[in-house]
Amino acid sequence: MNWLSETFSHHWMFLLMGPVYIALEAIRPIKREQKLFRGELGQDIFWYVLNNVYIDALLYYARVYITLHLAPKIWARVIGFITPFSTENFLSQFPTKLDSTFLLVIIIFFSRDFLSYWAHYFAHRLKFLWNFHILHHSVKELDWLSGHRSYWLDGLIFDLIISLPLVFIEVSEEGLTLIALWETHLQFFIHTNYKYSLGYLGKWLNNNQIHWWHHSVRNHHKYGQNFGSYTLIWDRIFGTYYAEDNVPDAIGLNDPASYPSNIIKRFFYPFTRLMNLFKK
Ligand SMILES: [Zn+2]
Ligand SMILES: [Zn+2]
Repeated sequence: MNWLSETFSHHWMFLLMGPVYIALEAIRPIKREQKLFRGELGQDIFWYVLNNVYIDALLYYARVYITLHLAPKIWARVIGFITPFSTENFLSQFPTKLDSTFLLVIIIFFSRDFLSYWAHYFAHRLKFLWNFHILHHSVKELDWLSGHRSYWLDGLIFDLIISLPLVFIEVSEEGLTLIALWETHLQFFIHTNYKYSLGYLGKWLNNNQIHWWHHSVRNHHKYGQNFGSYTLIWDRIFGTYYAEDNVPDAIGLNDPASYPSNIIKRFFYPFTRLMNLFKK
């Protein structure tokens, strides 16, 4: 997949699903008082376009190089170091082509889900990573588009970690496009202000009611709750699951005064934080 097809897949998802979600949110909203043209909607459009068009194009080749060339070498060395396999022998075996599409989907689904759980957990746990991830939590009113408010480097770090299975298992270009589309749509699905229910499956698959608690002003576990991406399995296993019958009243940062509201300041925020740390 080249960056053009990746970028266009985002555009199509945005243009096709945007009106659908706007209609659904108008028909059956979770928060009725929330307006379509809510505060900071312009900011979310800005971050969506920046991440999925400009930054995506700029970083696409860096990401391909890192995930397909650098990461396999690093992992081969790590595995060569801790096991008796030589690096060359180890590298020559991958990526493996799986005959069963079903098995391929299952492995990619659960491995990316597992890795994104930990990538997300550490984005909250480590101050350095939080300086990037804080932007995603600065949203005060959640809707279908708000999930795409994320810092470009936050997304890149996330991508690098969850692309690890692609180092070992061969996925076609069409498969990569499908993964990109699925993950773009997932962000709409888990942030939307549309009231839906997955029934019993809602206890195991990620959905907006659970993810809204991730955006709660209050932490219900030490570093936050509901870090899951596709499923809630890892939150349940590692004790970070939290749910109530309703959604939280207050969404956003528990210390909003510590984070700027201006786009330019937000763009440079991780770097200004880093510089301040060095000055100290
Ligand atoms: Zn988070
Ligand atoms: Zn979110």
